[in-house]
Amino acid sequence: MASVAKVVVEISLDREFDYRIPVPLLGTIKVGSQVVVPFKSRELRGFVVGLSDHSAFGEQLKEIAGVVGEKALIPPAVMKLAYWIADYYCAPIEHAVRTVLPSAVRKRGAQHKTQLVVALNVAASLSDDAAGRDAGAASTLSAKQETIVEILRQHGSMPLSDLKERAGCSESPVRTLEKRGAVRIEESTVLRDPHAGVELIRSKPFGLMKEQQAALDLVCASMDRDKPGTVLLHGVTGSGKTEVYLQAIQHALDQGRGAIVLVPEISLTPQTVDRFRARFGDCVAVLHSSLSDGERHDEWHRIRNGEARIAIGARSALFAPVERPGLVVVDEEHEPTYKQDESPRYNARDVAVMRGHLENCCVVLGSATPSLESFHNVREGRYELVRMLQRVDDRSMPLMRVVDMRLEAEKEGRPHIFSAELVEAIYDRLDAREQVILFLNRRGFSSSLQCERCGFVAECAACSISMTYHKRAHKLLCHVCGAEEKVPERCPDCSDPAFKYAGMGTERIEEVLEKLCPKARVARMDSDTMRGKDAYRTVLDRFRTGKIDILLGTQMIAKGLDFPNVTLVGVLHADLSLHVPDFRAGERTFQLLTQVAGRAGRGEKAGEVIVQAYTPHHPAIQAAQDLDYDGFCTQDLEFRRELGYPPFSHLALLTFKGADEGLVASVADRFASLLSSVLPSSVVQSPPVPAPLARAKGLYRYQVMLRCGHTVKMTKPVRHVLSSFKVPKTVSCTVDVDALSLL
Ligand code: ADP
Ligand code: ZN
Repeated sequence: MASVAKVVVEISLDREFDYRIPVPLLGTIKVGSQVVVPFKSRELRGFVVGLSDHSAFGEQLKEIAGVVGEKALIPPAVMKLAYWIADYYCAPIEHAVRTVLPSAVRKRGAQHKTQLVVALNVAASLSDDAAGRDAGAASTLSAKQETIVEILRQHGSMPLSDLKERAGCSESPVRTLEKRGAVRIEESTVLRDPHAGVELIRSKPFGLMKEQQAALDLVCASMDRDKPGTVLLHGVTGSGKTEVYLQAIQHALDQGRGAIVLVPEISLTPQTVDRFRARFGDCVAVLHSSLSDGERHDEWHRIRNGEARIAIGARSALFAPVERPGLVVVDEEHEPTYKQDESPRYNARDVAVMRGHLENCCVVLGSATPSLESFHNVREGRYELVRMLQRVDDRSMPLMRVVDMRLEAEKEGRPHIFSAELVEAIYDRLDAREQVILFLNRRGFSSSLQCERCGFVAECAACSISMTYHKRAHKLLCHVCGAEEKVPERCPDCSDPAFKYAGMGTERIEEVLEKLCPKARVARMDSDTMRGKDAYRTVLDRFRTGKIDILLGTQMIAKGLDFPNVTLVGVLHADLSLHVPDFRAGERTFQLLTQVAGRAGRGEKAGEVIVQAYTPHHPAIQAAQDLDYDGFCTQDLEFRRELGYPPFSHLALLTFKGADEGLVASVADRFASLLSSVLPSSVVQSPPVPAPLARAKGLYRYQVMLRCGHTVKMTKPVRHVLSSFKVPKTVSCTVDVDALSLL
């Protein structure tokens, strides 16, 4: 039997330590067990990540001091996943281990909650001599004690705290009764249930529409195979994807297997969770960041002990200890929030596919606008594709009108925030007592310069991404190839002399809006006004109940909201997100416009979308208007193939940060030249340049971008250089594999 355990301890050291397993614990300690080990002069908690018969350190090994809990906390498949993550994303293994186990479960002191419960001892008779003796001379009960006994007669047993409240007494008379043998007080576990008191009407499966049935059939067929695969479910907003997930989960349960459902944090609303709980009841456990630590701990253990077979949550729910999952669903699979922005920088969508592979389970990726990575995987034959292009209620998709803001500026002599068309449409809806959503596309990053008149933005001729404006040096820079340009004196397109940072605030727009329609009730929703969870819900409730006419907001309002009385969606400055120095700018814009458009016309009345843009003919905007997902993909994939961008390559972004710009730049330079001497020729290395976001939180940022068809050809040399290269203490270096944000 293996007598040596490999342990990672919870401090940042990228290595394992060998410990001897003491004889009484042989067989108890497994891969994934949480243990206590002597470390230097302390005792630390750690996780067993491997077992072995021998150790290179031989006799000097220290012994494991103890094991926490009986069952290994991390199931073997999840442990394998942690190793894969550490390796693929170039992260220390203990970061990966920390990620797969929520802190509410992992940390010292994490435990089940208990309470004291009082029960009547039926056997004991109160007039008994024994009882009498203990209580002294008086064998009769005091008034308080009578009350207590009477309450317990009615209820059988009751938590001590409730009993005290009901009887209006302190603990002491209950303790006296216990001494007399009349009652017993025991400790029992209480479940911290995040849904306590919420009664749901159980929902029955819908009879499926034709397209839904075909999708379900395909998913179930995959689940029934020995080697299930990955299915991309491309379903337009309102096509009923959730119902397909629900019935596929039922199929997993029928097979005696479990399921995991991932949704982006922002759509993990009570309504979403309720749809699953209404179908499957307590079989569903929720892992949500707004649960208390105690609730999360208990929900997690309900999964671990098999009581709950379905885990639903944001990104990290992927690691829920569901045993034998038969299905993993990733809803809105294109969402960038599936990528974690700290180490390990994993993408839950991609890791989900890996978990499916390790557990022999089917993975469904769902979206109205699948990522080009996933679409490409379909074309390459790695994923199956199924489509639902009809809305369940057969309502047509809203019509989209694109307003050319250049013409508008010409007509009016100067640029305006609102076009005449949009203003007129808003007045119409207000007259008809219908509601309006105005969406300000602010995903854009104001590091590009834009001509106020014609919307011109400078692009790198070689790389097809926006040049980044560097203010201090007053020059334009491409962060892919390093090309530099002077800021033009006049707009190269229309000769206007005014270049400005692209971008305007919601606050300014709100002011203008209030002048345009003084009677309308306007609410603004962005990260400035939405401090705290309640703020978000309050505004949405007021909008839902018709107390707000116009909802103005950023990304926050783009998804998932379903308001039947909204008949107009306006998009301000649709091109802003096109001018980020990122080759995914077109894809993001297409996705955003499609998602936002999905907010209009969810009810009886038809909806309309008005999009304001300086570049109305841009393919991303045109494709969104024409509802032409395939056309957009074909064109954008062609552009990416030519330039060797993902999905035709993998991308790794190295970022160096520090307060001393000269030092950061020189570290980046030295690192880059060391790296280029060991990189294979198949890796394309960009020169070190200031990041588009050149300075954040007082730290200067420099980047080196790597691209290659095989991740490991980049990560192995990077690791190698990292291990030999001494990065000064005041400079940090992060590695982001398959980076989604290039800022
Ligand atoms: P999606 O997630 O694809 O945008 P939803 O799953 O939210 O779409 O479905 C939209 C609406 O249609 C929901 O209110 C849902 O309850 C309803 N629905 C889904 N499938 C059916 C069906 N087969 N019959 C009737 N209503 C359905
Ligand atoms: Zn370039």
